[in-house]
Amino acid sequence: MTHSPGILSAEHPRRATRSFWQFMHHLAVIAGGIHLLFVGLFYLLGSPSMAWLNVGSTVLFAISLHCLRTRRNLLASILVIAEVVLHACVAVRAIGWDSGFHYYLMVMAPVIFISRARQTTTRLLLLSALMASYVALDAYMRRTTPLDVLPPLTLEVMRGINLCTTLLLLAYLSGKYYRLVVQTERQLISLATTDPLTQLYNRRSMTELAQYEIVQRKRHGDPLSLVLADVDHFKQINDTYGHEMGDRVLTAISQVLRDGIREQDSVARWGGEEFLILMPQASLESARMVADRLREQVSQLQVSHGGQTVQVTMTFGVACHRLDDRLEQLIHRADMALYQGKERGRDQVVTGAP
Ligand code: GH3
Ligand code: MG
Ligand code: MG
Repeated sequence: MTHSPGILSAEHPRRATRSFWQFMHHLAVIAGGIHLLFVGLFYLLGSPSMAWLNVGSTVLFAISLHCLRTRRNLLASILVIAEVVLHACVAVRAIGWDSGFHYYLMVMAPVIFISRARQTTTRLLLLSALMASYVALDAYMRRTTPLDVLPPLTLEVMRGINLCTTLLLLAYLSGKYYRLVVQTERQLISLATTDPLTQLYNRRSMTELAQYEIVQRKRHGDPLSLVLADVDHFKQINDTYGHEMGDRVLTAISQVLRDGIREQDSVARWGGEEFLILMPQASLESARMVADRLREQVSQLQVSHGGQTVQVTMTFGVACHRLDDRLEQLIHRADMALYQGKERGRDQVVTGAP
């Protein structure tokens, strides 16, 4: 079981924002590179004005990259958006609508929505401006004769390159955000089911698991046992050595329990210093044997912190599910057995009535 640290509500938007700036970073590098290629291409095609336009764009992307690296993100975004819009307008006017430079405007739609413009109205305004520029370009430039008339094949190739690059950028952006959603979903599941200190199941997920196992047991008739284990005199450890030592003891015990149970068993942190072990297909006797082995292993633990070492013991209460038992009744019997173990002097395993 894994657990990612961090408070999700604060961490998630930060990760989303980081992903966005990574994208902008890559966008600036790719776009700068493409424009540099276009400088050479237009020079060879005998269109110095377009070559100069691409020099300007390359420089703008280089500046944006520098701004991103020095964390002047807002300025970088403004430069990138301005470059894309201006470049589209100038290139379409210079070499015609068929060059396909207007396609890049479409990449700006997701960029606007994932950017730090958090206010919906700001995003909608930016999107409206983007749509207006696209529609205006379409209306005015489609039938306007370009300033530089390029050979039809050159124009076809250029449009193909621009279309493919646009699609690749959109695919890259969607892929990046899809991965982010999947990662966040995993983190959410982990946070909802895991105890942060011990990384064992938490009480809620163990309750669900136990309810499921009870249903299975009723269906298939296999035995089901449950163990409640509590650290002895744990308050004294906190009081004598401090809370940090207490936490270390809990972590060390968790490790012993996790390593010591069978493959089909599950262990959860049930409360402060109380653990619950669910043992499907285990009779009362075999659950008692596993519990006794765990008790022995815990008693041999030596936990060190701040130059001091402590040893702890645990008391275990074992109960076996009866066919008409509800989960609470099963837990109650394990709890009664645990209580008896505490009464009889701790560091022992007590089984409830079969
Ligand atoms: P007993 O042998 O009867 O179980 O005695 P005990 O001292 O273990 O039991 P008690 O219920 O009196 O004390 C439990 C203590 O566990 C009190 C509480 O402060 C401590 N505790 C609960 N959760 C945590 C935790 O996450 N970290 C630490 N360090 N202590 C915890
Ligand atoms: Mg205790
Ligand atoms: Mg307790």
